[in-house]
Amino acid sequence: MNRSPDPADRPELVRRTAWPDSASRPVGTPIQPSVVYASECPDALDAQYEGRTPGYTYAREGHPNADVLAAKLDGLEGAEGGIVLGSGMAAVTAVLLGACSAGDHVLGGDQLYGRSLRLMREDLPRLGIATSLADPTDAAAFSAALRPETRLVLIETVSNPTLRVADLAGIAALCLARGVLLAVDSTFSTPRALRPFEHGADIVIHSVTKLLAGHSDATLGYVAVRDADLRARIRALAVTMGFTPSPFDCWLAERGLYSFALRYDRAEENAARLADHLAGQPGVARVLYPLRPDHPDHNRAAALLCGRGGNMVSFELAGGRAAANALTRAAPQIAFAPTLGDIGTTLSHPASSSHRGLSAEARAAIGITEGFFRVSVGVEEIDRLMGEFTAAVAAAAR
Ligand SMILES: *Cc1c(COP(=O)(O)O)cnc(C)c1O
Repeated sequence: MNRSPDPADRPELVRRTAWPDSASRPVGTPIQPSVVYASECPDALDAQYEGRTPGYTYAREGHPNADVLAAKLDGLEGAEGGIVLGSGMAAVTAVLLGACSAGDHVLGGDQLYGRSLRLMREDLPRLGIATSLADPTDAAAFSAALRPETRLVLIETVSNPTLRVADLAGIAALCLARGVLLAVDSTFSTPRALRPFEHGADIVIHSVTKLLAGHSDATLGYVAVRDADLRARIRALAVTMGFTPSPFDCWLAERGLYSFALRYDRAEENAARLADHLAGQPGVARVLYPLRPDHPDHNRAAALLCGRGGNMVSFELAGGRAAANALTRAAPQIAFAPTLGDIGTTLSHPASSSHRGLSAEARAAIGITEGFFRVSVGVEEIDRLMGEFTAAVAAAAR
């Protein structure tokens, strides 16, 4: 019978090996996937929980890759103590549930992101939080919709997919006068075009998934809160609810952020040119781009967005659904996918995706027909892109 060797002679496979020492440091940010962190002794743990020494304990409560990303996003927004969460919707949810209680009222923009609308319509009322919607391009409509129990206003500065620009100055003045929190989902405009804190916002929200991360490979959200107490409440709620961001996604998003300004500027330049190009094509009934003189909010866009039009362009084909099918089939190299902010150009068709839950009449009321497309313009070489759209629009017009 074989006898086991002395335990001291057996290789230890289960226990972790110490990380190798190095006099040099990595240039790339390390990824730290550890869920738990070991401490030296209970006193050391006390010191950490009481904020006397830095450190981590459990990844749901925070981890280094989230903190590295949060610091970068804070810099972009001019914020302090921003919170990174597992998705843009986790960010929206953390704000609404962290700031509001049963009996409060929340007033939202009437063209919010689809899931934000659903949260307002279906879920908050179930929890005793009343909600209603108003047109954020019209501060008088917002004023009329405020109630004595309104706790928070949620708007997007540039709406999806008609790219309407909110009257941020008017709404911020109302919120200030009435003591209502103003939360701005700034995903479409990004801090490159607008920093909502400079316009009176109390809370800034981003789906980092989109332009900030920029490569359609990480799902993340971000919340910055001006008031420190409210920030702590929202952070605690996010930890309790488990809105934890993945370290790997944080690492990808951080990497994406390094090229954000370059990507944004190039995509925006492309978008402005593509918008004008599309407007000259037979079969295109209308083009929506915030800086074009025919856009309903172009004056406000020029003032509020500092002359930045962004990377989103919407257009409508005269030919309805048949033309829409022909267009996506004629341009298979442009991803037909309901997202935005990727480094490459993507195309979405709201009537069959983001806005399919609305009746045809409700869609028509906001100008979304079967021929309506939204383009998230990427950083491709512009002549190639315009050529592809020329061919696709021509195929749709046949
Ligand atoms: C995509 C998006 C969200 C949701 O973000 P996810 O990361 O997909 O959860 C929220 N608001 C806006 C404006 C968005 O475009």
